[in-house]
Amino acid sequence: MTSIAAALRIIQDRIAEATARANRPLGSVALVAVSKTNPTEAVEAALAAGQLLFGENRVQEAAGKFPALRAAHPGMRLHIIGGLQTNKAEDAVAIADVIESLDRPRLAQAIAAGMAKTGRRPDLLVQVNVGDEAQKAGVPRAEADAFLRLTRDELGLPVTGLMCIPPAEGDPRPHFAWLAGLAARHGLAVLSMGMSGDFEAAIMEGATHVRVGSAIFGARAYPT
Ligand SMILES: *Cc1c(COP(=O)(O)O)cnc(C)c1O
Repeated sequence: MTSIAAALRIIQDRIAEATARANRPLGSVALVAVSKTNPTEAVEAALAAGQLLFGENRVQEAAGKFPALRAAHPGMRLHIIGGLQTNKAEDAVAIADVIESLDRPRLAQAIAAGMAKTGRRPDLLVQVNVGDEAQKAGVPRAEADAFLRLTRDELGLPVTGLMCIPPAEGDPRPHFAWLAGLAARHGLAVLSMGMSGDFEAAIMEGATHVRVGSAIFGARAYPT
């Protein structure tokens, strides 16, 4: 088994190579280490190797793991990347540095209320269902423009970018390119796209954040 430190080094090298191949500045792609389902010790091993940015998809799991770690590692950052229930919005606002999974008006309202209550304003990414898949979270493509206007202009939420999970089958690159075009049209700087299996393709299409889990921490023992 590869150690977490060694796996992180390999992923960082692959990110650097893809960034160079894409003629993009070194350091323009951030690695979000997706630690969901992995124990605190795995996060600690990544921290010891210098990784500070983590992604979790369940608020409760993150709340169990992160506050103690953050006390010891103040530079640590947490992205909530998973589908978010409205009744967890305030907890997500309280714990996250970035919420990547904003995808419907009721959740936007709940996040706005959570921000008013807690005084915290984590950056938000709008998740787009780039494949318009029935079973997947995310704003349908045709509604993305209107949803961005609602969340940014009407609700005044701190939306800084977009996130997507392309269909499991087929070439993800056209989906990444489509999301990059949407971000450019709306002047959004952050593009969270690419996972263990496709992060290099995402970097070619402009990802600023890649979310890599199993390639760092190993195959998950149970589904998320
Ligand atoms: C689990 C997860 C990832 C990481 O997936 P891997 O294939 O393990 O790299 C990335 N993004 C989201 C939203 C996830 O839920």
